[in-house]
Amino acid sequence: MQNKNSIKRLVKNNCACYLGTKHGIPNYCCLQDSPCIFFSQNDALPRCTYFENGVLPMDEKLDQEYKFKRNVETEPKTAKPRVNCTRCGGTFSANSNRQKYCDKCRGRARKESIRTRVRKFRQKDSSM
Ligand SMILES: [Zn+2]
Repeated sequence: MQNKNSIKRLVKNNCACYLGTKHGIPNYCCLQDSPCIFFSQNDALPRCTYFENGVLPMDEKLDQEYKFKRNVETEPKTAKPRVNCTRCGGTFSANSNRQKYCDKCRGRARKESIRTRVRKFRQKDSSM
């Protein structure tokens, strides 16, 4: 994990809970009352709400990488709109605001429109 060093640097310089060596504990975090979780030898990336909310935003680039790597859901601002299907009335999440049918009905509606087109075509054909 290459960003761990950047995280550590950010913690060292900016985290208010990071107190250096205290009570004989290196990288002491006053919030955890134990070493800062980002300084563990473990490769896994721990989560620290205080860090994510109060320290990480200071480094925009790291913030993005951090959230990207962990799939941190920040705000559901990209949430798809819930729309009622005009065919069956069921709700579904639309990919675009032009979408009228749910996934199930979309397939059926397409087939039906082809069928009606074919029927019209045949009717015209037979009347000639
Ligand atoms: Zn539907």
